[in-house]
Amino acid sequence: MSATISSTNDSTNSANKAAEGAETKRPLSGSKPPVLFCDFDGTITLSDNIVAVMKHFNPEGWEPIVQDIVALKKSVRQGVGEMFALLPSSMKQEITDYILSTAGIRPGFRELLDWCKRNGVEFFVTSGGIDFFVYPLLAPFGIPEDHIFCNGSDFSGERIEITWPHSCDEECDNDCGMCKTAVIRRFPKDEYARILIGDSITDFAGAKLVDLVFSRSHLTERCRELGLPHIPFETFHDVVHHLEQGDWRA
Ligand SMILES: [Mg+2]
Ligand SMILES: [Zn+2]
Repeated sequence: MSATISSTNDSTNSANKAAEGAETKRPLSGSKPPVLFCDFDGTITLSDNIVAVMKHFNPEGWEPIVQDIVALKKSVRQGVGEMFALLPSSMKQEITDYILSTAGIRPGFRELLDWCKRNGVEFFVTSGGIDFFVYPLLAPFGIPEDHIFCNGSDFSGERIEITWPHSCDEECDNDCGMCKTAVIRRFPKDEYARILIGDSITDFAGAKLVDLVFSRSHLTERCRELGLPHIPFETFHDVVHHLEQGDWRA
């Protein structure tokens, strides 16, 4: 596999492959079945819901925390925990209503799920987001709950407490919060073509493990820097197109 697959360089190639005709195309005939690990905030949703909440409710002190996370000076687990602790638990309904009424789903998401179903490909949501907004936003799509990994929340105290039911195992020292690499490592590299879909910091560690990354935003830059195999995308229709072509076997 070449070090980097860019969508622009690949367009001619894809067109040629498409011209070969659907009859000869058997995207799943490779030796290893693909398995997909998809980020939530800024990937399935159009923007990052945690940042949106902080911007909207603007609790004092959230901005330096975000800056430290972006600068990789503070782990995601520590930073996200600290930010939600700035908000009183009594705001639960208000915050939930805000996210559910403003978050948009990226075009093509249902089509991607349909493609996975048609082809018997396992699809996991691996999210650094929080249960109280991840589950309701995904409810219309019928993804089994055991295929959704995200962080938890506790509104019983005075301030919102984030809980970490899927934190790092002994093989990851990244202090992820929701450890994507631990989920990915359940699917051995020699048995599966592991594909990560994501956009940002919570995807950096997982991107180094997988066979192929569908990337947006900061994750595209990161993959370029590290020479990781990646395909930049805008909508999930793009992702389906590349999967149809069998590009994960490249
Ligand atoms: Mg994200
Ligand atoms: Zn981890």
